[in-house]
Amino acid sequence: MTRAPHQILIIEDEPGIREALRVLLVREGYRAIEAPNAARAQIETRNHKPDLLIVDLGLPDGDGLDLIRRIRTWSSLPIVVLSARTLEEQKIAALDAGADDFVTKPFSAPELLARVRAGLRRGARATAGDAPLAFGAVRVDLAGRRTHGAHGEIHLTPVEYRVLESLARRGGMVVPQRMLLREVWGPDRAQDTRGLRVFINSLRAKIEPDPRRPRYLVTETGIGYRLCPDEVGEDTGAGSDRER
Ligand code: CA
Repeated sequence: MTRAPHQILIIEDEPGIREALRVLLVREGYRAIEAPNAARAQIETRNHKPDLLIVDLGLPDGDGLDLIRRIRTWSSLPIVVLSARTLEEQKIAALDAGADDFVTKPFSAPELLARVRAGLRRGARATAGDAPLAFGAVRVDLAGRRTHGAHGEIHLTPVEYRVLESLARRGGMVVPQRMLLREVWGPDRAQDTRGLRVFINSLRAKIEPDPRRPRYLVTETGIGYRLCPDEVGEDTGAGSDRER
């Protein structure tokens, strides 16, 4: 792929971690910008219009959550939190504040890079419109509400399409259960996580090669779900049905 490198803003006060992130990202071909505090982060975000933010939550001049909330008032750019806060409530608080995903410190480089790629895909999807989703032999056209598998058309219910839509809108990023419930059924069903699981299971039966070991519609225990479709080239060859 030959396009301008993605710009990533690293918001982190510890110089050692910032440097490690910068080296890691540059080695992957990204451009890295750095901010050691929340005030600088806001300036750099406005000046450079980065493609993605990596945000530490413990910053010297404020909490990263406040920074995320502030940025979310004017921008929908992908935000990955990198934090030592490991409790589920803390992760959910970050996602509620508007972060797209969460990586805990000490971080694994492959995991962080996977989250960065997912975030950038989410950002690209937000601007590129609805490309069909690919799950092995299954193709889902969200806009046209049509789904095909190796053996022809697959029927998805309107609610199942809405679940997929809500997950797909956030690329491969984790979507908290409550957020999914709110988006699909509205605020009064926000607690019905058991009901949600029923729909997730029925969707898996339709799109997963092995629904008991989901590959595409993945559970993040205690938090929510993420959708990880196959990567499809820009021009989706409709005739290139892969067998098995
Ligand atoms: Ca810190």
